[in-house]
Amino acid sequence: MSKVLVVNPPRFHGIPVIREDRCENADRDCVQTPTSLVYITGILRSLGHTVRLLDANGYNMPKPAVLWQIHKFKPDWVVLRSTVSTFEEDTKVADYAKMEGAKSILLNWNLHGVSEEDVLKKCPSLTRYLGLYHYEYVIPQIIDGEEHPKPKFTEDIPDPPWGDLPNFDPYFMRTKWLKPWVVVRGSKGCGWRCAFCVDQSQRLYKRSPELIGDELEYLVNRGVKYISFFDDTWESDENWSMNIIKQIEDRQLKFRWYINSRSDMIVRRGLAFFKRARKAGLDGSSFGIEFGTDEMLKRVKKDTTVAINTEATQILHKAGIKSYASLMMGYLGETKEQMMETANWVRRVKPTAFQINPVYPIFGTTLWAEAESMGLIDKSKLDWKGLACVPTGLMDWKFTEYSPQELYKIRRQMYRKIYFSSWALYNLLKWSWRNPELTLGYGISMLGRMRNGFTFSH
Ligand code: SF4
Repeated sequence: MSKVLVVNPPRFHGIPVIREDRCENADRDCVQTPTSLVYITGILRSLGHTVRLLDANGYNMPKPAVLWQIHKFKPDWVVLRSTVSTFEEDTKVADYAKMEGAKSILLNWNLHGVSEEDVLKKCPSLTRYLGLYHYEYVIPQIIDGEEHPKPKFTEDIPDPPWGDLPNFDPYFMRTKWLKPWVVVRGSKGCGWRCAFCVDQSQRLYKRSPELIGDELEYLVNRGVKYISFFDDTWESDENWSMNIIKQIEDRQLKFRWYINSRSDMIVRRGLAFFKRARKAGLDGSSFGIEFGTDEMLKRVKKDTTVAINTEATQILHKAGIKSYASLMMGYLGETKEQMMETANWVRRVKPTAFQINPVYPIFGTTLWAEAESMGLIDKSKLDWKGLACVPTGLMDWKFTEYSPQELYKIRRQMYRKIYFSSWALYNLLKWSWRNPELTLGYGISMLGRMRNGFTFSH
């Protein structure tokens, strides 16, 4: 059996970093629990390894403290995560590990179109790089040096060892009034094929609702007040998601929770489903609206329409659930008129909140392949660090007549226009009666980002 240190590396020049699959980016305004690393710790421990979890990002530990932990624990293996924009800083953990005689495995999902050989060339201290989505099964195989029968995600994580995090004090999203906050994962994968998405076509695995119920109960008993499900599309399986609602009801768990959805699935589940979820504490949902025109939705193979997006938002609002619309601009061939239609959709439909992000290409996606074949991306010249879902100042591609920098300028104008309009104020007041402290917190966060710029923040 091996000694394994599972490490969420330190912050990036003081900026907190989210290193969780489709969300791999530095973000000034969010300290997220290292959920995947907690689950990996549980899996390795269940196989008999001696495992220690170190969340240097969460607890804001400096690099020398991580070095000291590696030196003291003397692991055989170090498992760490990274993001494209923080790769060089994060992989210093692998350098320390090598100095102490440990082997290391790096996870960085947004680099998955890059070969292991190329990643190891960038950081020769690494033993392995895994650009795999279902890495939970492969890490034990590498460490054990043998093949395990491929287990289901469902059966893998009977008891995620959240107790390895001594407290949840550091974790927050946008506002420190939303604490203690924890991110869990009930399912992994998504059967849809949206052309821009890093998770496109990844097989869906669902954990058992009973085990998720155990996990939620443990967290609520530890005082956690707000839980976000990291699942790509939480409500895509009606029975499964209803069973989770029943777990919350039967155990009488009192907490607020948050999901990610798809608009067509919201419409399919319907108002009664979401009213019941609301009663069980569902507070809000993000969903990928993406564009304000059917042409663009078709272009990216989203399998939704503007009408479905509108209906889904209305269902959430009727059920008393906040809607957070994710939108994008600057996709291949998108015109300025089409971008403006996206902003018009926001003004017309009035989601509780929204974000419009300039499109960025991720290795291994349909968008990447298409842009590369059109000669719009030159891999040999591209700086990896620019390929983050938040602005880094290193973007080097142009999919429309506007450069990424120009798109960010257009976005700033859109934000100002929308957020300082009378309906935005009305929206703010309408929702704030429920959680005035959150509304104030989000408002302060938004003003801060407008003042400091959106670099390293959504
Ligand atoms: S539905 Fe969401 S998670 Fe699934 S491929 Fe589309 S954008 Fe990605």
